[in-house]
Amino acid sequence: MSSAIPFICAPDYAFAAPWLAALQAAMPQEHIVALDALDAAQRAECELAIVANPDPRELAMLPQLKWVHSLWAGVERLVEDLQHSPVEIVRLVDPQLAETMAEAVLAWTLYLHRDMPRYARQQAASQWLEHDYVRPQDKTVALLGLGELGMASAARLLAAGFQVSGWSRSRKAVPGVQCFAGDAQLPALLASADILVCLLPLTPETRDMLDARALAQLKPGAALINFARGAIIDDNALRAALDSGKLAHAVLDVFRAEPLPAAQWQWQHPQVSVLPHISAPTNRRTAAAIVAANVRRYRETGALPARVDKQRRY
Ligand code: NAP
Repeated sequence: MSSAIPFICAPDYAFAAPWLAALQAAMPQEHIVALDALDAAQRAECELAIVANPDPRELAMLPQLKWVHSLWAGVERLVEDLQHSPVEIVRLVDPQLAETMAEAVLAWTLYLHRDMPRYARQQAASQWLEHDYVRPQDKTVALLGLGELGMASAARLLAAGFQVSGWSRSRKAVPGVQCFAGDAQLPALLASADILVCLLPLTPETRDMLDARALAQLKPGAALINFARGAIIDDNALRAALDSGKLAHAVLDVFRAEPLPAAQWQWQHPQVSVLPHISAPTNRRTAAAIVAANVRRYRETGALPARVDKQRRY
């Protein structure tokens, strides 16, 4: 009988019980339990844990821990907490998550593309006024990040007729996508964007990356969608770009502090759409099946799934 697998999440996490149930159902041969259901001897045997924003002090209660499987795709906090620990990090890579994100990218791109914020403002002012229609073929959606989520989003945007450009650290060749790579090519990517979509991980390199200098390189009247992490954007620079009209609109799903505090300017700004971090929720069923497959392979072969690169931080 293999050792139990603790599921460790933040103490106030509302979905701990459904996750435990979904994970247990996906791997009936395993014993998935909350950490406090294990005594010291059982904890001493655990090699792996399944985690969702765990308290690092709880991970430290597992002396034999070799790896953690995160239920989330973004792992910047885990990377920070485990930076100097030998414990390996596996993040969730789920095609369903990528499809859900791609759907959100397409939905909010269309919202901006068809000028919905502008027509909503006109309605509020009882204003009957039409604006020129621009075809998607004549607009470029620029993706910051061409990873799991960026690639799936590119496919949806291409199918909807948009021109698509994308930026990554290593150079990519994606049919139909104009690919840029590395810091030197960021200005060219930004200059290509009618709608800029951020799908980057939060790392020391990407923190505050969208600052006044970067935003100044966008076309006048461009729009921004941030579905990645709040701290990638310099909020003061964003506000200034919106107020000056340099940026027409920002769709923000992620913030430095979440939930977004009531006093924050984004709530009331007429050119901002605030979303409560819902662009790509993890699907419990598909995610649990992927975690289960990774655990099964580890039990059978001892092989860990693809690990997060702690040096690179994603
Ligand atoms: P991923 O597969 O690791 O892809 C990350 C992409 O960003 C890669 O293309 C990578 O380049 C690029 N990148 C990283 N650092 C870079 C840098 N310094 N310069 C240029 N490009 C850089 O990640 P993913 O699965 O697509 O997820 C991306 C992020 O989305 C996650 O980290 C998470 O924060 C966020 N997310 C948000 C939600 C939500 O609901 N809002 C849900 C899930 C995930 P290379 O290809 O060269 O490595």
